[in-house]
Amino acid sequence: MTRLDQLGEFGLIDLLTKNVSGNSSVLVGIGDDCAVVQEGKKQHLFTCDAFIENIHFRRAWASPEDIGRKAAAAALSDIAAMGGIARYMLVTLACARDTDVTYLERIYTGLKAGSEEGRVALIGGDTTASCEGIMISVTVIGKALDNPVLRSGARPGDVVAVTGYPGCAALGLHALEQGDGSAPEALLHAHLRPRPKLMEGKFLGNGEVNAMIDLSDGLVQDLGHIAVRSNVSIDIETEKLPFTPEQCAYAEKSGVSALQTALCGGEDYELAFTVPPRQVATLLAEFKLQFHLPVTVIGAVTEGPARVTVDGLPCHHTGYNHFQTAK
Ligand code: ADP
Ligand code: MG
Repeated sequence: MTRLDQLGEFGLIDLLTKNVSGNSSVLVGIGDDCAVVQEGKKQHLFTCDAFIENIHFRRAWASPEDIGRKAAAAALSDIAAMGGIARYMLVTLACARDTDVTYLERIYTGLKAGSEEGRVALIGGDTTASCEGIMISVTVIGKALDNPVLRSGARPGDVVAVTGYPGCAALGLHALEQGDGSAPEALLHAHLRPRPKLMEGKFLGNGEVNAMIDLSDGLVQDLGHIAVRSNVSIDIETEKLPFTPEQCAYAEKSGVSALQTALCGGEDYELAFTVPPRQVATLLAEFKLQFHLPVTVIGAVTEGPARVTVDGLPCHHTGYNHFQTAK
């Protein structure tokens, strides 16, 4: 018997989705942030994300409004990663019979706020009982721009860049787990109220970006998906990684490594992308003019085995994997 915790999340997805049926409309199936489907002249994007009580959120740490908003944000972030435009949302809600209805209304206040921020129409879903706890599954349908940005487009010679400050959300989660009420608001905010980078993704998708992914499971692991799908090596230079003063101060105070959380912490919902070196200066300068969000070159793409290295060395720490405990 192979146990699920030996196989891991991605091994399980590979196993279960072997020989799935596609059809000629499916341009990109399983394995990217969204599926891309051609219907007539239009390309549509499809993605879904589940949000489970005590796995993805705890009622003790997050307000119901934040829980609803973050469930929407996680799904919308996959549309951002394709450089697309989000259009429609469907929500499946499962909850135990004794759940307080007001609490669910408040989750929906957050979901509706998230859908409005993402400019999507909430057009349906499903509601069902659960044995215990709340589950919210959000499906988003979007429109692809001319060429959706895939994980498979990275080329040797490309520069690797990232938006924002990876690792903030993981430090915020650490503070919540420790019950550290004095932790910097910016870190708690990063974990509880991430913003999907839809406008930024669309801007990058319109540029010369070759590959892109959103950071849900950690920088190394998520860049690993680009490395595998593009069959390239990606090296991250740690001295180039951006850190806020709050990250550094909290990490020092709590004994957590700011570097480790930047490399492996999940749920930042920032964008990581690769771009040819000749385009990078102009693209990043224009990005900085348009958005109040830092963007930083953190590494490079080379030919070679499909893997991510950190300062030229293999990285033994991975990111978040359901069914495996490493975080
Ligand atoms: P993301 O972190 O971008 O949401 P995931 O890591 O959850 O992506 O999923 C990776 C890929 O596997 C995606 O293309 C997703 O659609 C697909 N996938 C995940 N779970 C399943 C499943 N149970 N059945 C079919 N496809 C799946
Ligand atoms: Mg994604």
